[in-house]
Formats: sequence, structure tokens, C-alpha cells
Amino acid sequence: MKERIVILGGGESGVGAAILACQKGYEVFLSDGGNLAAERRRTLKGQKIDFEEGGHSEELILNASIVVKSPGIPDSAPLVKKIVTKGISVISEIEFAYRFIEKAKVIAITGTNGKTTTAMLTYHLLKTAGYKVALGGNVGKSLAGLVAKGGYHYYVVEVSSFQLDGIQNFRPDVAVLLNITPDHLDRYEYNFSKYVTSKFRIIENLTNEQAFVYCADSQPVTEEISRRKIEASMFAMTASNNNKLSAYLEEDHLIFNFQYKEASEEFQIPVSEISLIGKHNMVNSMAAVLSSLCMDVPMESVMKGLKNFKNAPHRLEFVTEIDGTAFINDSKATNVDSVYYALDGVKGNIIWIAGGVDKGNDYSQIEKLVKNKVKGLICMGKDNSGLTDFFGSKLNMIAEVGSVKEAIKQAHEWAEEGDVVLLSPACASFDLFNNYEDRGDKFKRAINKLAKALKTKEA
Ligand code: ADP
Repeated sequence: MKERIVILGGGESGVGAAILACQKGYEVFLSDGGNLAAERRRTLKGQKIDFEEGGHSEELILNASIVVKSPGIPDSAPLVKKIVTKGISVISEIEFAYRFIEKAKVIAITGTNGKTTTAMLTYHLLKTAGYKVALGGNVGKSLAGLVAKGGYHYYVVEVSSFQLDGIQNFRPDVAVLLNITPDHLDRYEYNFSKYVTSKFRIIENLTNEQAFVYCADSQPVTEEISRRKIEASMFAMTASNNNKLSAYLEEDHLIFNFQYKEASEEFQIPVSEISLIGKHNMVNSMAAVLSSLCMDVPMESVMKGLKNFKNAPHRLEFVTEIDGTAFINDSKATNVDSVYYALDGVKGNIIWIAGGVDKGNDYSQIEKLVKNKVKGLICMGKDNSGLTDFFGSKLNMIAEVGSVKEAIKQAHEWAEEGDVVLLSPACASFDLFNNYEDRGDKFKRAINKLAKALKTKEA
């Protein structure tokens, strides 16, 4: 008789898991409490996979021998509790997918911030080297869907803490932990150490045959490492042969250090040779390079890949230049931390566009940077009082606008050659936009329209 598997949740990861399970000969049933997207419904029907939506039928679920739970469903959900009480094994989609990866290598990337950038860059570096590599997990396709498709020698997977909560045997060849700051605490009983423990599950099955790459600048990470007495240095990788790799940023170079049993070797990469900008992105770059080196990517292709990498949109994304002024879209920066990295990383005088829904921002951590680098602030939100109260007396040029179009008009008026116009809002977007993508897209469209209009005028 076929083993019965139930998939809870019919999003990208659920449908991917259902396809893989079907391919592997399970009796599959997918159950979603809400409505499925039309395309996913079509996929399931096309594969003749049994499913329900708009509610869960317990009698069709509690007879499973294994349940794959969507990362969006908390362990505290009554149905999940019932499943656990019945002794049914509940796992996450990456755990399930991992069980069917035979020879391919897995690089798993987690952290509170920088996962997508690091995963995309790592993928790009492996791809540049000509590897058969897939990118999935939280970014784009589900790991299960990719495994079902097959043909890959490497999987770069962005992993959230919710996915890690449901692992058992998941053992990546390289585990990357970028940083940990308080986030998603509602799922961890508002207990930061539970969130830290969840993130550290990425290394729970590692032996000295795998590598662990982490950022030593993240205090919660290093504290946990010393608490667990994990032997590792700086921003380090430990691997089977006791070789160690570390990396750090020194002024305008990334320095990589190899330590062999008896010798050490060093090489440098100039920051000017890296397409990403900002200190945070240097951390992400170091993590991606270390991971690639673990997979024997040659240095020449690492260098080539770092130079021509294009990040996901809305993260310090260069839009265009108008009369010698660069326009940068950092719409994803919805908190003050992110703005810190943006202001610090951008060179030149900045005309800063910020504002939106303020979640109780404390601007004091960027006050010095703003004073040193920002020549004008354009507040773009329905209620700008947080920004104007704090910066009103500290900046000479400050304006309030109600749309992207007005913001760009104002920025263009203020801008001189060599200035940078930076949208890095420090706030959520939903007062004027649908989401941060919508805000960034409208910003880019308005700039390109202005550039076109100016060109036509010139001609
Ligand atoms: P994630 O996928 O974890 O959300 P992203 O790569 O999409 O991360 O980056 C989201 C935002 O997080 C960026 O716009 C940037 O402001 C911030 N960020 C990126 N990398 C780091 C890092 N290494 N440390 C701190 N903040 C970062």
C-alpha cells in the first residue's frame, strides 16, 4: 500500500512538495484552509493530485503517516497540535525535499537580513563557474519543485526560521548564518532566544564534513557559538580537512584568509570590483564567496561574478543618471537599520527620500550620517511628523510631498552634478502604495519618464 502524505498549505512550497511526493509514489492529499491561486489549482489538477481548499477535513488528514506543513502555519494551530498528538510526523517542505537529494550539494542560507541577496549572489557565482545550479526556497521556486524537476548538481536555498522549525535530517553541505536580530517573535512566544535556537537549527546535523559560514559581527550569533562551544574563528568556514577560511572587510578590500594545517594564505578583492554597495552587502558578498570557495569555484569566476552581479530589485538598485545625478531605489529599506546601510554605503551628497508608515522609528542612530551626508530630505508620506520632528531643525532643505512624481520633481530641482537621489524610506509603504515593490516600481517609472522628457526637450 502507498504511504499517505498530507500537505498542509497550497502555496509555492506546498504545491512543490505535492508534486515531488506524487513523483515519488506517495498517496498525496493537499489541504489549504484558504483559497488556492488559480494557477496552483490547475497544476494540482494537471498532476491528478487530490486536494481541498477553504477548510481542512480532519478525517482526510489524521490518517496520514507524514504531514508536510507550510511555513506559514504555526505549530500552535489546533489542527497541527492534533496531528502531533496522534504521533504523525510533521516536517517542513525543505526537510521533505532534502530526503530526495542524492548526490547534489546544498548551500542553505539563513539570517534575519540579507538572505535573498546572498542566495542570489551565491547562485550567480556558481552559475558563472558553469555549474548546474538551482536557486530556491524562500526566493522563487520551492526546493521540492526543483528536486522534482531534477538535473541539478547544486541547490542554493534561502531558508527561513519557519522552514528550519520543521527539519529532522536536513544537512546542507554549506550552512550560512548571516545575522540574527529580533524579528518574527510572535511565532516564538516573544522569546528571542527561541528565535536564535530556531536559526541555529541550520547546523544541527552538521558534522566536520560540512562547512559553517557565519558573521562574527552579529552578537547573538557569536554569543550562541561560544555558548555551544562551537570551534570556529572570525567569519569562518570549517571544513572536513580542518582547513579554515575567514574573511573580513578592511577599508576598501575584502580580505580572505586560508588556514591550512601548517600554512596560511591570503588574497584580496577590491570593493571597487564588486557590483553591490554598502557594508551589509560586503558581509553578504563574503558569505557568498566563502560558500562558493567551499564548492571549489575558481577565483577568476568568483571575481567575474562579483563584478557583473545584479541584485533583486528595490535593494540599493541603481535606476539611471540625469544630468550627472544618480537615482537609487532602496524601497525595500523599511526600517532605520536598512537606511543606515544605504546612507553609509552611497558615495556623494545625498538627497534622501523617506517616509511612509513609521513603526515608531528612532532616527538617532542615523543622525550623524544624515548630518554628514544628506543635503536635503524629501518626506513622502501621509503623516511625516516622525521625520520632520526629528530632522526639521537639523537640515536646511526639507520638503513634504504626497507622491513619487512630486518627490522626483523636488529632488531634480535640488540636485547638482555628483549628487545621489536615494529612495530609502525607513517606513512601510501602505499609506500611499500597495507594497514596497509598488513604491519602488512607481519611483523607477517616474524617473525614467523624467529622463525621457528631458532628452526629448534637448533634441
Ligand atoms: P532578506 O531576504 O533576508 O529579507 P534581502 O537580501 O532581501 O534580505 O535584504 C533586505 C534588506 O535587509 C536590505 O534592503 C538591507 O537593507 C538589509 N540587509 C541586507 N543584508 C544585510 C546584512 N547582511 N545585515 C544587515 N542588514 C542587511
